[in-house]
Amino acid sequence: QRNVVTVGKGFAEAAKRLQLEAEDKASVIPKLRVESRRKYLEKRKGDKITELEADIFDDEYLFDEQQLTERERKDREYKKKILSLAKEHDKARELELVQRYHMPDDKRDKAMPDRYVEIDEREKQPHSEQRVWEDARMATAQWNFGARDAKQRLQEKGKVHDYDLLLDDTIDFIQTNQLAGTKGIEEQTEVSDIQKKKMSLQDTRKSLPIFPFREDLLQAVEDHQILIVEGETGSGKTTQIPQYLYEAGYCKDGKKVGCTQPRRVAAMSVAARVAQEMGKKLGNEVGYSIRFEDCTSERTVIKYMTDGMLLREFLSEPDLQSYSVMIIDEAHERTLHTDILFGLIKDIARFRPDLKLLISSATLDAEKFSDFFDEAPIFRIPGRRFPVEIFYTKAPEADYIDACVVTILQIHVTQDSGDILVFLTGQEEIETALESLTERTRRLGTRIKELLILPIYANLPSDMQAKIFEPTPPGARKCILATNIAETSLTIDNIIFVIDPGFCKQNSYNARTGMESLVVVPISKASANQRAGRAGRVAAGKCFRLYTAWAYKHELEENTVPEIQRVNLGNVVLLLKSLGINDLIHFDFLDPPPHETLALALEQLYALGALNHMGELTKLGRRMAEFPVDPMMAKMLLASEKYKCSEEIVTIAAMLSVNSAVFYRPKDKAIHADTARKNFFSPGGDHFTLLNVYNQWVDTDFSTQWCFENFIQHRSMRRARDVREQLVGLVERVEIDMVSNKEDLVAIGKAVTAGFFYNTSRLSKTGGYKTVKHNQTVLIHPNSSMFEELPRWLIYHELVFTTKEYMRQVIQIENSWLLEVAPHYYKAKD
Ligand code: ADP
Ligand code: MG
Repeated sequence: QRNVVTVGKGFAEAAKRLQLEAEDKASVIPKLRVESRRKYLEKRKGDKITELEADIFDDEYLFDEQQLTERERKDREYKKKILSLAKEHDKARELELVQRYHMPDDKRDKAMPDRYVEIDEREKQPHSEQRVWEDARMATAQWNFGARDAKQRLQEKGKVHDYDLLLDDTIDFIQTNQLAGTKGIEEQTEVSDIQKKKMSLQDTRKSLPIFPFREDLLQAVEDHQILIVEGETGSGKTTQIPQYLYEAGYCKDGKKVGCTQPRRVAAMSVAARVAQEMGKKLGNEVGYSIRFEDCTSERTVIKYMTDGMLLREFLSEPDLQSYSVMIIDEAHERTLHTDILFGLIKDIARFRPDLKLLISSATLDAEKFSDFFDEAPIFRIPGRRFPVEIFYTKAPEADYIDACVVTILQIHVTQDSGDILVFLTGQEEIETALESLTERTRRLGTRIKELLILPIYANLPSDMQAKIFEPTPPGARKCILATNIAETSLTIDNIIFVIDPGFCKQNSYNARTGMESLVVVPISKASANQRAGRAGRVAAGKCFRLYTAWAYKHELEENTVPEIQRVNLGNVVLLLKSLGINDLIHFDFLDPPPHETLALALEQLYALGALNHMGELTKLGRRMAEFPVDPMMAKMLLASEKYKCSEEIVTIAAMLSVNSAVFYRPKDKAIHADTARKNFFSPGGDHFTLLNVYNQWVDTDFSTQWCFENFIQHRSMRRARDVREQLVGLVERVEIDMVSNKEDLVAIGKAVTAGFFYNTSRLSKTGGYKTVKHNQTVLIHPNSSMFEELPRWLIYHELVFTTKEYMRQVIQIENSWLLEVAPHYYKAKD
């Protein structure tokens, strides 16, 4: 071991000023960084400078060039190279005068929990802006919706509605505005009529807004190579266009029509629907392909797939030769993969004039797409929507899940027929709401009409997913608890009421710290309006926003920031590099990612050993690209070769991919569930616990009963098994033998470390943990088996930001392993 804290002259100066002893060097480095950063900012006052630039300055200020090792010098050079590329990129952009978004400085500041607190604070002041504004709105329109004060007034007049006695809690809403429709209320048919009317599948197809434009659309496809299709959600773009193309002969000579979807559930569900409409078996003529699951065959001519899967198809078929038409659907979602596809596909179109491209989007951004695709024509499908009344809460709601439940019941007992759609952020929230709603409706018993509560989220098994499309039985009401998937990807008919708490879960990446975490953030105005629009498809509808009109006006961003500008790009950079696209700076992005993010992705791949210091793909990198997983996960899988524990690592990888959904904890049996979970705890950390769960399940011959008894979600386990099977295939493809090394916890730990060493944190003196890279305070998630153990060093699988920054799925490590598995990233110090 050698002393790496070799210092530059700036260090000596600063150390003197700070009166530091030489042996404190290591511990004062972070302080000095702050010091040097301040100095640098002073020097460059007024300039636009980047983190990377400042980093390089720090480096030079603190560490003397002469005393650097060869590797450290290369590292520094590499950083500088990235910086100069980034600068070039910036210059090029200025020349092109392309507008670019700015990465929000720190999304987390704007994230959920504080939001309500802030509003509450403001509300305490009697003449706050919000109050004044809302009072003014109140004066113009008020709709008493089971409201408490209304109840009082009615009580005074001796008129109390039945529902007042039923509901122990209600929320006040104020109506302020309306989402205009293209159709008048007079034109609507009674919802009950629509439900009664049983149309044949073919009649249903003909009733969709897109149908009258079938011939025009086909003509436009024939006339133009690239076409932008824009239409209201539910008009039939996703389900009908591929069928029209098929019927028009685009699948002759064995070619396929492909259609990408940003979401797994949408790809599966839409494929199932289209197979049904065509009277075919799913997986034959109509199929889908999603990560870890390929439901297609030789006969498949209409193929739905996630955008990520199409990206991977480029690896085996760079010219997409087997397709005659490719539809990039839900383009407005602007997922990372869809954005990358835009660039690739635009390029292909140039040398494959016979390939037709359709970019399909809800009513947003069509001009932007057209501009990007060299002024491609826009085909607009006229929308059809009934007006939607918008209601806001009078005051902010502290607990939006509870507010959802209350609002659902309020609607159920006070409103005419029509189904309810609720937007929640994820599986956990949906389950909580489901439980509470079930409990409360049970208590109300037969005093209320039947309420069918149906969840829909990504991990839900497909037979449960199909339920949301089944017609509501007469006299009952359907209430669908959905994630963002129902915003535009899936259209559920007969929705009259939408409840929008105003949040969604987002992957957020801080390019400054390199930390990625899932956070619940307020949605954008564009999203809020899409959500509201879901209520006006079959009749005039109502949308209940569980936030104040003031919050809508002042706190929501106009549009959602495209994913490419807020996530870790490691994955796609690796993929693009393996497609031979080395010059990422000049890649044709619809909106380029911030260069810090690109630089960090390159740096991370370099640290993982996937790129050499020239930025070229290494042999290791090439093998990593074979795996449709995060680069860190890929590296872990590959490292299992060296540590001879591929069986265990593959299981751990599979279990991590379903991680948060392995254990369940019903409220009424929480203690039992916790005990059951603790029985699986294994020394060393959560990774071993997950391994243990899986292996025990294997020993029971994959028993459902066993899962049930141990409070384990059987469907998550089934999915883990499927994922595992796929991973085994991939591991074998890169010629790693499947070997087991069950007893050797160190070997397994090292393999995990080899992949996830970026995510190291150490116990700090104050009791919490600090990430090693950026000294951020993080905590072990209370569900972890390490929660009470507090090992000195650990690696986390992911960070989840709720009330605090939590590490989820942690494994204990020795710091010496870091030097062994990532010598060019971690250095020993005395
Ligand atoms: P768009 O892509 O324009 O938003 P879609 O093609 O997804 O529209 O939807 C058209 C119609 O097909 C909608 O009425 C929707 O309810 C129906 N639909 C889509 N998927 C399914 C499904 N899995 N089951 C039943 N109906 C479906
Ligand atoms: Mg669609």
